[in-house]
Amino acid sequence: MKSIIQFPSKLLTPIREYLQHEQMKLMKSKSELKREDPFTDSQRVDDNADIGKEAAEQFGHQRSEALRSEVDKILINIRKTLTKIKIGKYGLCEKCGKLIDTDRLAINPTAEFCMDCQKKSVATVRHPATKMKPKKPSGRKL
Ligand SMILES: [Zn+2]
Repeated sequence: MKSIIQFPSKLLTPIREYLQHEQMKLMKSKSELKREDPFTDSQRVDDNADIGKEAAEQFGHQRSEALRSEVDKILINIRKTLTKIKIGKYGLCEKCGKLIDTDRLAINPTAEFCMDCQKKSVATVRHPATKMKPKKPSGRKL
């Protein structure tokens, strides 16, 4: 009889604690990034006095924004993983439902897919649906 494979809570607790810790760290760095962003600086005067400074601000803004969206992605992943822990689905591949290799989870605790599915999803480049309709036999002769 097949039983649902689950991670023992003994193993899950440190993972959950680690993720919660990471979550806190990321939220903090996100607010720091926002502070670093020259565009959120209310004291900023758009005086065009210094082209170099303008460019630096533009660059700083883009960098800050890019980093924040990266942080957001990780945060979403962490939240998702924490939910999975809560409902007892941690470590299960989202595609095939098999248990993800623990070595893989040790490196990437928020892994969504098992090795096989990950490989497949990387290999399959998403094409627009180009389903060919099966040709209708046109001839009447058999
Ligand atoms: Zn899988």
